[in-house]
Amino acid sequence: MKTYTHILFDLDHTLWDFEKNSEETLYTLYEQFELNKHGKFDCDSFYNKYKFVNVRLWDLYNKGKITQKELREDRFVKTLTGLGLEPHELPQGISEAYTDMCPTKTAVFPFTYEVLDYLQPKYGLHIVTNGFKEVQHIKMSSSKLHNYFKEIITSECCGYKKPDRRMFEHLLDKLEVKPEHCLMIGDNYECDVEGARAAGIDQVYFNPAQVKGRKRPKPTYEISCLSELKAIL
Ligand SMILES: [Mg+2]
Repeated sequence: MKTYTHILFDLDHTLWDFEKNSEETLYTLYEQFELNKHGKFDCDSFYNKYKFVNVRLWDLYNKGKITQKELREDRFVKTLTGLGLEPHELPQGISEAYTDMCPTKTAVFPFTYEVLDYLQPKYGLHIVTNGFKEVQHIKMSSSKLHNYFKEIITSECCGYKKPDRRMFEHLLDKLEVKPEHCLMIGDNYECDVEGARAAGIDQVYFNPAQVKGRKRPKPTYEISCLSELKAIL
């Protein structure tokens, strides 16, 4: 059994409930921008299309194929044109409204606070996220997560993105800690599990939907609920 001293968390889809917060935001925007007036799609279609487009664009962003600016602009353009709006019908400012509103939402995964309260006295807790610095700080303070964490490493501030192992090494250097004393927890197999493994860090794959992936190396641990961390740590 290894002795862990530092626990690294991913933020989106691991602690901060991105799905729920994004859904709430998109439903509000649908009303606010009166997207029903086109008579082309309902609120659920808007949400589902956005989700589909956003996942794909984030994948391109994580692979370094598009920039943050392209990600933010393209997701609404592709969603709305995909639902049948003409370019001149695209509502002005919807992308900015989303970026302003979504990070102020506060839904987190079940047992988030309980588990962090349990871990905080025993370990150094840190965030390693590919999200954008300013946005992640707003999410963390809105949902009262900021006080639990010492270092918040974003791809913007260190210059690397998960799964690049240099992102993890940046944190190890900063903490002056060896990889075997760290444990990374995250929901994205490629970014969080493979990235941490490449840096020599043990991994907890957070898989709440219990999705069976294609055949790939097992993470050190796999959990479907954050409360299971208490049995590991
Ligand atoms: Mg994540």
